[in-house]
Amino acid sequence: MTDTMKALAKTKPEVGLELIDAPIPVAGPEDVLIKVHRTAVCGTDIHIWNWDEWSQKNVPVPMITGHEFAGEIVAIGKDVDRRLKVGQRVSAEGHVIDLNSEAARAGHFHLDPATKGIGVNRQGAFAEFVVAPAFNVIELPDDVPYEIGSI
Ligand SMILES: [Zn+2]
Repeated sequence: MTDTMKALAKTKPEVGLELIDAPIPVAGPEDVLIKVHRTAVCGTDIHIWNWDEWSQKNVPVPMITGHEFAGEIVAIGKDVDRRLKVGQRVSAEGHVIDLNSEAARAGHFHLDPATKGIGVNRQGAFAEFVVAPAFNVIELPDDVPYEIGSI
C-alpha cells in the first residue's frame, strides 16, 4: 500500500471535479478503512459537480466527493466492537452521526444536528480508499456484486 491514492475531488469553488493524489485516510479507533471497488453516482453528486447554491452552502473545498460505494475492509480500528473482518465485502450508510448527541441517544439518529455526509462534508468514496465509522458499515451478502452493493 502506498501513501497516496487517486481521488475525485472538488478542489475549487466552481463546476467540475479534479482527479488528484490524496493521502490514504487513516481509520480512527471506531472506524474501518475500506478499499473501494465500485461507486455509484447519486443526485447529490450532480449538485456538487454543478456547484449549485446548495453545494456552495454545504460542501467545504477541497472535498473528495462520492458516497455510494462498495468495497472490502482493509483495516479495522482498535475499538470497533462489531464482528467485522479484514477482507469483508461491505458498503456503508453515508450519514455519519454523533452517537452521543441527545437526538442519537433518544434513538432519533436521523435528527442528529451534527450529521456529516460522506463525500459532502467529510472525505468521500470517489477514491481508492474511504474511512467510515464501523456503526455505518453494511455487510454485503455473497450474492450481491459490488456493482449492486454500491447503489
Ligand atoms: Zn446518495
